[in-house]
Amino acid sequence: MSANSTMDSGNQAKFWHTHRYNNYNFYLQNTYGEKIRKLSIDGGFTCPNRDGSKGHGGCIYCNNDSFVPKYIDKEMSLAEQMEASIPFMQERYDAQKYIAYFQAYSNTYDDLEELKKLYEEALSYPGVIGLDIGTRSDCVDEALLDYLAGLNERVDVTLEYGIESIHDDTLEWMNRGHDYASVIKAVEMTKQYGIKTAGHIIMGFPVETREMMIATGLAANDLDLDFLKIHQLHVVKGTVLAHRYEKEPFPLFQPDEYVELAADILERLNPDIVIQRLFGEAPEEILIAPKWGLNTPKLTHLMHLELKHRDTWQGKLYKL
Ligand code: SF4
Repeated sequence: MSANSTMDSGNQAKFWHTHRYNNYNFYLQNTYGEKIRKLSIDGGFTCPNRDGSKGHGGCIYCNNDSFVPKYIDKEMSLAEQMEASIPFMQERYDAQKYIAYFQAYSNTYDDLEELKKLYEEALSYPGVIGLDIGTRSDCVDEALLDYLAGLNERVDVTLEYGIESIHDDTLEWMNRGHDYASVIKAVEMTKQYGIKTAGHIIMGFPVETREMMIATGLAANDLDLDFLKIHQLHVVKGTVLAHRYEKEPFPLFQPDEYVELAADILERLNPDIVIQRLFGEAPEEILIAPKWGLNTPKLTHLMHLELKHRDTWQGKLYKL
């Protein structure tokens, strides 16, 4: 049983605050006792799957404009981004403390000395209590992890790996540039250094069956992830996938199908894994499909109804 849940015993429904899954807002409130928000930062990185060191063109679905929040401009320096995003978070969400989230591209892909300067600059702002660093499994090494382990003694550090799928054929199809063995190795090393790990996965690749997607979701149990983000496949402008979709459209999830799939995963997931995200959002101006027309609160409500209807919750069917 999760140390931070408010679960009942026996066969009664289990809740993390009002949710039937171990949600990130609950985790933040329970861990820090105050309002914490993530500040999405563009650190000006690129990606080895774009600059030729691992591949060219990137993953076929990737358009990093999907990640840049409206309140910052990717041309801004880190200082300008922090100075714009902190007041925004205070005003909009009454935020008290922050986690600097290096999100776009591969945020460990630089010389260690440059990385140190950037991470330390983000941490120098009042109220920043942690770093969440999104990266690829082939962009970490012992020297970086050793440094981050030291940092982790004074602030909370999470490394977030793009896993996307555990199936090597799918990873090849999407031009990922690494295999699943690379993810296993990176996650194991990260855990050995005592750093929290998050995984990002995508549901709905047209080359996968539903069972393959569920297997990817449940791999979070074997990897012993601390956090999981699950995301429906989006086709966005400016990508190879968009080009293929426009030439030959393929089926994409409808909200009810996706919610059913996510519920199938949640009820077999270790209840200690904190769900950071269950639905992806892409800016309307670049989203080609699927256009659900539902915002995150509405989708979260659908998820709640599905779990309630089944009388299930995260981990109900989880077996150690
Ligand atoms: S999805 Fe991530 S790893 Fe793939 S090309 Fe984009 S930034 Fe690089």
